[in-house]
Amino acid sequence: MGKMKYEAVIGLEVHAQMLTDTKIFCGCSTKFGSEPNTQTCPVCTGMPGVLPVLNKKALEFTIKTGLATNCKISSFSRFARKNYFYPDLPKGYQISQYELPICEYGYVEIVVNGETKKIGITKIHMEEDAGKNIHESASGGGNYSFVDLNRAGVPLMEIVSEPDIRSPEEAVEYMKKLRTILRYLGVCDGNMEQGSLRCDANVSVRPAGQKEFGVKTEVKNLNSFKFVGKALDYEIRRQIKVLEDGGKVVQETRLWDSERGITESMRTKEEAHDYRYFPEPDLVPIVVDQRWLDEIRASLPELPDIKRKRFVSEYGLPEHDADLLVSEKALAEWFEEAVTLGGQPKVVSNWIMVELTKLLNEDRITIDECNLKPVHLVVILEQIEQGKINPATGKALLAEEYKRSKNIIGTIEVTLPKLRVHIEAIINQKGLVQISDGGAIEKAVDDVIAKHPKEFERFRAGEEKLIGFFVGQVMKMTRGKANPQMVNDLLKKKLS
Ligand code: ADP
Ligand code: ZN
Ligand code: MG
Repeated sequence: MGKMKYEAVIGLEVHAQMLTDTKIFCGCSTKFGSEPNTQTCPVCTGMPGVLPVLNKKALEFTIKTGLATNCKISSFSRFARKNYFYPDLPKGYQISQYELPICEYGYVEIVVNGETKKIGITKIHMEEDAGKNIHESASGGGNYSFVDLNRAGVPLMEIVSEPDIRSPEEAVEYMKKLRTILRYLGVCDGNMEQGSLRCDANVSVRPAGQKEFGVKTEVKNLNSFKFVGKALDYEIRRQIKVLEDGGKVVQETRLWDSERGITESMRTKEEAHDYRYFPEPDLVPIVVDQRWLDEIRASLPELPDIKRKRFVSEYGLPEHDADLLVSEKALAEWFEEAVTLGGQPKVVSNWIMVELTKLLNEDRITIDECNLKPVHLVVILEQIEQGKINPATGKALLAEEYKRSKNIIGTIEVTLPKLRVHIEAIINQKGLVQISDGGAIEKAVDDVIAKHPKEFERFRAGEEKLIGFFVGQVMKMTRGKANPQMVNDLLKKKLS
C-alpha cells in the first residue's frame, strides 16, 4: 500500500485585548507596564459584596469587530461565569460569555496562492483577563510567587473560527487578516509581542477524502505569526506520524516550546477543567437597540478588502501593490494623500514599497512613527518628472529628508509650495541638477569608452549586459547626475 495522504483541519481561538482606557467591569486603568497592583480596586480584586458594571466601550468595540467580520449581532446576549481556581483569578471565576455570545455566524476572507477563501467565524464574545503570576526564580534565592492584578479585568474579545482552515499558511493569513481588521477598527493594537493578540490553535488530521474530522489537539498561547505557522506545522507532522505508526491521537492541550521547536502535552481531556458555566447573576443581559447598532455600523471605516478593490479599480494598481498598501490603514492613507497631492499612483506605490519601506525597516519603525510626509515624496517625484534630477538623486534626497525629519519633535505643517522651495534650494545649492545637455553627456560617454576599449569591444560584439557597466561609469564621471535615459540612448547609438 502506498503512503496515505492526510489533510489538516484547523480552527483558531484568538484573544484580542481591547484598547479601552478602563477595565471591563470597573474604572481602573488598563495602561500597560505600571507598578504591580497599582491599577486595582475592590471589583477587579474580587472583594465580596462588589458589583461589576459593563464598560460600554468594550461592548461597542466587540460589536464593531462583529460587524467588520460579517457576524450577526445578537439583540439579546448575556455573561456567564466560568468557574476555575487559580491564584491569578481572585473571584474563583472568570466573567465570560457562553451560550449567548454577542456576535455569531461571521466570516473573513483570506487570499492564499491567489485564491480567495472564506473562513467562518463561529462567535465573538467578551470576557475579562486574569491577573499575572510572577514566580521568583529558585536560583535567584527567592522562594515566593507574586500576583499582579493590574491585568485582571482588562477587556478581551475571544474570536472563535470554524474548523475551515486547511494549512498553517491559511492559519497565518487568517490571523494576519484579523489583526489588520482589528487595527483598522482601532479596537486592539495587535501587538503580539506584548500579548495584546494571541492565539490557541486547534488542529486535527484526517485521511484525504474522509468526511469526519479527526481527534484534535489544542496548542495554547501562540504569540507571533511565525509561531502559529511553526507550531501547526510541527503538530500536523506529529499527528500524521502517530497515525502512520498505528497509534491514536489523544485529545489534549499542548504547549509550544519555541526554543526546541516542538509541542508538548500540558493536560489531557481527562484532566480538562469542568468550568460549570452558569449565567452571571450580577450583570443584566445585554440588549442592543437597533439605533445604536446603526450608529456603530455607520461609524465603521472603509475595511481592508474593500479598500484593496478600490485601489485596484480607482488607481489601476496591481493586486500585489494594493494588498501591501492596505495591510496597514496608516500606510494606505499615506499612499492616498500622496496621490491626492498629485503623485502618479503606480510611481508612488513603487517608492513606498521600495524606498520608504527600506528606510522604515532600517529604523524598525512603522509608517505612523515616521515624520516623513507624503508631501516630501511628491515634491521629489515632481523634480524627477520635470527632469530636474534623476531618480538616483531623488532617492538620495528622500533618504536625506527622512533623516532630517527624524529630529522633528511633534508635527509640523509642511505645505507643498513651502517644501518645493526647500527642495529646489537643496538641489541648486548642492548642484544636483541632472545633466541633460546632450553635448556634455556625449563627452562623458566618449571619455568612458576611450578609457575602457576592451569592454567596449565586447559590448559591440554583442555582450549586451555590459551596458550596465558603461552607464555606471558615466554616472560615476558625472557624480551621479547624468540623465540615465540619455546615457542609455547614446550608448546604444555608439553601438551601431
Ligand atoms: P472545545 O469544546 O474543545 O472547546 P470547540 O468545538 O468549542 O471545542 O472548538 C474550539 C475550536 O476548535 C474552534 O475554533 C473549532 O473550529 C476548532 N475545532 C473543533 N473541532 C476541530 C477538529 N476536529 N479539528 C480541528 N479544529 C477543530
Ligand atoms: Zn478595578
Ligand atoms: Mg469550546
